[in-house]
Amino acid sequence: MPEPRWDDPQFKGGTMVRAALWLVQEIGEGNTFTKEQLRAAFPGVAQADRRARDLREYGWILDTSSTDVMLLPEEQRFTRRGVDVWDAEQRRAADRDSGAISNKVRDGVFAANGYQCVSCGIAGGEAYPDRPSETAVLAVSRRSIERADRTHEQVLVTECKRCRSGASTRAYSVPEVRALVEDLDPDDLRRIKRWAAKGARATTPLDRAWNGLRSLPAAERAKLLTLIE
Ligand SMILES: [Zn+2]
Repeated sequence: MPEPRWDDPQFKGGTMVRAALWLVQEIGEGNTFTKEQLRAAFPGVAQADRRARDLREYGWILDTSSTDVMLLPEEQRFTRRGVDVWDAEQRRAADRDSGAISNKVRDGVFAANGYQCVSCGIAGGEAYPDRPSETAVLAVSRRSIERADRTHEQVLVTECKRCRSGASTRAYSVPEVRALVEDLDPDDLRRIKRWAAKGARATTPLDRAWNGLRSLPAAERAKLLTLIE
């Protein structure tokens, strides 16, 4: 399929597809752009930048100042293009591949990680501390783990959608994790060894009470707490 023009009024692609074409035709791989430029290209389109971020699901790499320190906070870099999302056949093939994680496998990964994001520790449905209006949605991501012998292995992990979109290229290495574990005090080290043996973080009465409270509507939660001294 020939590459359509991003601004062709005859072309009926959605915002994500047109944003992909805009990046290729107006910005060019390796160059930076701002949210303002993207908004100006798609006037009246709500959340054009969010639709552009959806391209990461198709292998596009868009770096921000949190993934590349050379970038200013308002800048993003169109680092690498991925699947030609304007080509229906290529897009369907990519959707098939990403859908290859069955519900059964996904539920197993969620359970293994205690229904918590392995990156930030948030539980599914929990509100983000820095943005209480937004609650975590869990997803399964493929991660490349570096073993102690420096070879790599693909594993499936639970991640919230926020961490997934911001840190999709993040790879953990055994030496890095080792340094973190070595820094723990003896009590925390014993605790984490017990969690590792169980395959999950043990819940305390405090955790269980918090999980219960969290599941209540905010008004019920507040009312209940005023009743208990
Ligand atoms: Zn997270």
